[in-house]
Amino acid sequence: MRSGMSRRVAAACAAGLVTAAAAGCGTADGGDGGPQGSDASVSVVTGVYPLQWLAERVGGEHVDVTNLTEPGAEPHDLELSPRQVGAVAEADVVLHISGLQPAVDEAVAQQAPDTGLDAADLVELRAAEEGEGHEHGDEDGHEEHGEHEEHEEHDHDHGGTDPHVWLDPERMAAIADGLAERLAEADAADADAFRANAERVSAELDDLDSAYRDGLAQCASRDLVTSHTAFGYLADRYDLTQVGISGVDPDSEPSPARMAEVARLVEEHDVTTIFTETLASPAIAETIAEETGATTAVLDPLEGITDRSPGDDYPSVMTANLEALRMALSCD
Ligand SMILES: [Zn+2]
Repeated sequence: MRSGMSRRVAAACAAGLVTAAAAGCGTADGGDGGPQGSDASVSVVTGVYPLQWLAERVGGEHVDVTNLTEPGAEPHDLELSPRQVGAVAEADVVLHISGLQPAVDEAVAQQAPDTGLDAADLVELRAAEEGEGHEHGDEDGHEEHGEHEEHEEHDHDHGGTDPHVWLDPERMAAIADGLAERLAEADAADADAFRANAERVSAELDDLDSAYRDGLAQCASRDLVTSHTAFGYLADRYDLTQVGISGVDPDSEPSPARMAEVARLVEEHDVTTIFTETLASPAIAETIAEETGATTAVLDPLEGITDRSPGDDYPSVMTANLEALRMALSCD
């Protein structure tokens, strides 16, 4: 059994996803996949859930995908275990979005300079708007995260781009194409399958785009008040105005002045719904809703799938988000 440890199990061990006792992690005698191993020929490591979904769709049966962010964990401030760094080093392809997860960017730079695939090199990232930057300046934020000072320092270094690129279906399709080409390089025998899979997933993403375009064409309001500013791509593409209470990073606490500003805007624009998220605390959004008489609803930034997600994969959560938007914005 030990010598037959599959790459999938090896990757799971590396990512700390299974217990050592259950899978024999760390006891394998150097076996690199035996007769009982999976048929997958390419190992892919991804930083955040939407990229995992994309890699699984594009790679199909020919890849083993390991996601670095545990389900239910908030991806922005992910820290990697030594095993996860090892998985990054050993993967054939590491798909990430620079600027989203400093620890992953760093691991790719050091361990996977040739195998890293940065979504930011495949599509143009939008600039984080004024007020969307990382606002860690207030006392509370620093007290809470004092031990991560270095990471926060690093956070500020990524040139002010918005990393939430997966909320734009069209850019996701472009990333699928880029990934298919990279997988084809890693595994030429399955190149046709990767390209066909990318075409299929692009068609699915096109359908989502059409549904959003149609569903958000005629709405009473176009103001999108959200907890953290994850929805800039969506707002850009479907002509909505995003008002983020916090910045791009959900950990940044809004100042009392920012809270008052958002509350004022909610009242002036007759905003009926403040959106909360699945992985972040709804407390601040609820406070503003209470103050202004608005209600709250979930708009999932798709940073991970949990029991509380309004769907069990990328397309179903995107579809649930569209319904939540149509309801909140009173769309025809
Ligand atoms: Zn985010």
